[in-house]
Amino acid sequence: MLTAVLFSSCTQKYEQNTYFALDTYIQTNLPVGKHSGLDDYISTFEKKLSKTYEGGELYNLNLGVEQTVSTELYELIERSVQISESTGGAFDVTVGSIMSLWDFKSENAKVPDSESIKNALASSGYGKLKLQNGQIMLNSVSVDLGGIAKGYIAQKCVEYLHGQNINTGFISFGGNIALVGPKTNGEKWNIALKDPLNTDKTVGQLKADSGYISVSGDYERYFELDGKRYHHIIDPQSGMPTDNGIASVMVYSNDGALADALSTALFVMGLEQSLEFYEKNVFDYEAIIITKDRYIYVSDGLEDVFTITSEQYVAA
Ligand code: AMP
Ligand code: MG
Repeated sequence: MLTAVLFSSCTQKYEQNTYFALDTYIQTNLPVGKHSGLDDYISTFEKKLSKTYEGGELYNLNLGVEQTVSTELYELIERSVQISESTGGAFDVTVGSIMSLWDFKSENAKVPDSESIKNALASSGYGKLKLQNGQIMLNSVSVDLGGIAKGYIAQKCVEYLHGQNINTGFISFGGNIALVGPKTNGEKWNIALKDPLNTDKTVGQLKADSGYISVSGDYERYFELDGKRYHHIIDPQSGMPTDNGIASVMVYSNDGALADALSTALFVMGLEQSLEFYEKNVFDYEAIIITKDRYIYVSDGLEDVFTITSEQYVAA
């Protein structure tokens, strides 16, 4: 926990706290004194679901260490495989081998050579992963829950707070926001959507009082070389950062894991395929897609609650 700033909002005082976990700053805005235990609660999930947490469950799974996996890890991998299938592999929970070739944090980041990418592609593909009776058989792939775990944990946190009768506030996990409930005066929260092409600015505002919001953008983790941006949302077909004209995707759903996985998946699918996918009603969600040529696509269910505030963008 880094800060604890008190401020008042409507009739009840809210308290802001910041934790660092899951490689991100987690900010809570909850009624004063009502956040206790949340950091420990988040840590228990990090130990199970993070592929970089040394000695953690997913870390050990990818190393091939014999262990009994928790229900949470098993269920989230199972869910991830289902979403991988339903999105035709745009979301692919086995991008682990490919992700480990890309170091977005390094000062001397470089593009992996084509041979390494070819090899990593050979040891990925959700079809290889087998789950049966609590056993996970990797069959050469490496599991990466980076595109779904935060949304899943976000929902667990909301359920944890509801269990303590805390029904107002929100939690922000960087690109994932979980709404615990409306303001104490019954009003909805205003959630600003970042301008993906100018991240100091925002493009619009969403009004909501429950549910999960996940944003995937090419500005979240990236490096630039020779004027080209290489970012962390990988096209599992090519092993390269997705380059299809999408700048960011926001998904809103009552299912946290789904919102997270779909924002990644729609980003990879690109505009046309995403619009077709939405029409098919495979899942229950709403979405906003922002293209690099500054169009904003808002799905039907968000039209009345999302307002574009930037003149730099055109509603499509
Ligand atoms: P997000 O910011 O939710 O879009 O998730 C991006 C993270 O998900 C990356 O840092 C990877 O860990 C992982 N990832 C990248 N590309 C994919 C993909 N196509 N399918 C599933 N997970 C991915
Ligand atoms: Mg995601």
